Amino acid sequence: MTVLGQMMQQPLLISSLLVHAERHHGEQEIVSRRVEGDIHRQTFRDLAARSRKMANALAKLGIQSGDRVATLAWNGYRHMELYYAVSGSGAVLHTLNPRLHPDQLVYIADHAEDSAIFFDLTFLPLIEAIASRVKTIKTFVAMTDRAHMPKESKVPGLLCYDELLGAENDTFTWPSFDENSASSLCYTSGTTGNPKGVLYSHRSTVLHTYAAALPDALDCSARDTILPVVPMFHVNAWGLPYVACMVGAKLVFPGPGLDGKSLYELFEAEKVTLSAGVPTVWQGLLSYVEANKLKFSTMNRSVIGGSACPPAMIRAFNEQYGVQVLHAWGMTEMSPLGTACTFKAKHLAQTQEERYAVMAKQGRAIYGVDMKIVDVAGAELPWDGEASGELLVRGPWIMSRYFKDEGGDPLVYADGDGWFPTGDVCKIDADGYMQITDRSKDVIKSGGEWIGSIDIENIAMANPKVAMAACISAAHPKWDERPLLVVVRKPGAELTRDEMLAFFEGKIAKWWTPDDVVFVDAIPIGATGKMLKNRLREQFKDYKLPTA
Ligand code: AMP
Repeated sequence: MTVLGQMMQQPLLISSLLVHAERHHGEQEIVSRRVEGDIHRQTFRDLAARSRKMANALAKLGIQSGDRVATLAWNGYRHMELYYAVSGSGAVLHTLNPRLHPDQLVYIADHAEDSAIFFDLTFLPLIEAIASRVKTIKTFVAMTDRAHMPKESKVPGLLCYDELLGAENDTFTWPSFDENSASSLCYTSGTTGNPKGVLYSHRSTVLHTYAAALPDALDCSARDTILPVVPMFHVNAWGLPYVACMVGAKLVFPGPGLDGKSLYELFEAEKVTLSAGVPTVWQGLLSYVEANKLKFSTMNRSVIGGSACPPAMIRAFNEQYGVQVLHAWGMTEMSPLGTACTFKAKHLAQTQEERYAVMAKQGRAIYGVDMKIVDVAGAELPWDGEASGELLVRGPWIMSRYFKDEGGDPLVYADGDGWFPTGDVCKIDADGYMQITDRSKDVIKSGGEWIGSIDIENIAMANPKVAMAACISAAHPKWDERPLLVVVRKPGAELTRDEMLAFFEGKIAKWWTPDDVVFVDAIPIGATGKMLKNRLREQFKDYKLPTA
């Protein structure tokens, strides 16, 4: 007979993170570089009071439980207040990515049936361009104070954030409801078809927060000062706005200043210990720090994910700046964290070179994420560091369906259970470290064998004359596809095709060496800071390889 446990039934709600932060870390600071140009400071106590005021304001605006409330905003304290006010009161926070094309934004806002939108002043022209096109948004709020409100605007009935908030008192009791209720919504910028929505729940978010804070995940504590470079519109800034409340870490929001200089100044002035972002952002930061012969005086860890972190970057951070890179992997569909690369005890006895080889991998699954690799027929492959196949995942913060069932049931039922197919191709070693070799749609198939474009890019990036490199497939009459390397040189650097190809000698199997190199001024970057390889493939679809 089953005997039930006798513990309290408390729903896992996002508002509980804020209540905890106010009670136990009320004095902790949130520092923001504002769109208005200055540095703004408030405490978690202020955050909690202002979020309650905003919850009252949302109710007056007619926002009800389950309604979607959109944001178009940088990382900042007002955005953070909306994270808690909207989800905490039972509505759904829908973070829009301002880097998307206006047509796509209109499609997404209509698809989500957003009823209100809150935006930073930077995006006023964008809002003016789409305001008459979006079907369901009735309320437009500029996230600023009265003094900075635009004198004139084409946006109907434009409201002022600080004014809305100032009219309310801070008495508000966060409602209790089913922990499986929707809390926030984020669309993936898919490379084909329309973007699809991932609808997170309170339960999935709180569980993900517990896991993300762990020492072998993002390793966050009350002694940290965290600067999320990763935008709050990209999978909830990888969960850091929630983690900061759970552990009581100081938060520093960079606002629109994501260039190397602005970030570096904020790192130093606010004594940041931990930061997080995609490799392209760190490229800019490292170039600035290198060019100006600077050092980081407090930053000791940097979470890098979203695309593969080149080993050369891991080395540069570690050897020149004493910053430990934490390579992590995840997806919008996974809240996003899946794996993080931290050492096991046995690695501590290894040489630095051996440890670098470990750090280049995407890492071990965090408890809560179950993973396996399968071949094209769906048969499970061994964890031997050799066999490579598609990665399948499951767990309580992994999506089961897209919003409104877009695209039907995405899961594969490999062994009766539903698994989410990530579209990533990888191998897993005997210690459980996963290493991505490619996206299934980016994979290069030469004579029936896979060539991992990420390996090739990582080697190219280790060349000091290379600023950015992408490896794509080009048509070949004999091999079907062969690798073509597209390179952006560092400013002023001279690098020839033959020099670049010679750089691969001894570092890679001969047949993996690209057949040709083309130099370009820039590689297209998508809305979340990743290289758009599908665009490159389109650009080079008629490219004739010298070997063809
Ligand atoms: P998104 O949903 O936009 O965050 O994209 C998720 C995809 O980004 C994953 O399926 C991977 O293809 C890629 N990705 C994320 N993190 C990494 C990483 N550390 N290394 C390689 N690819 C990554």
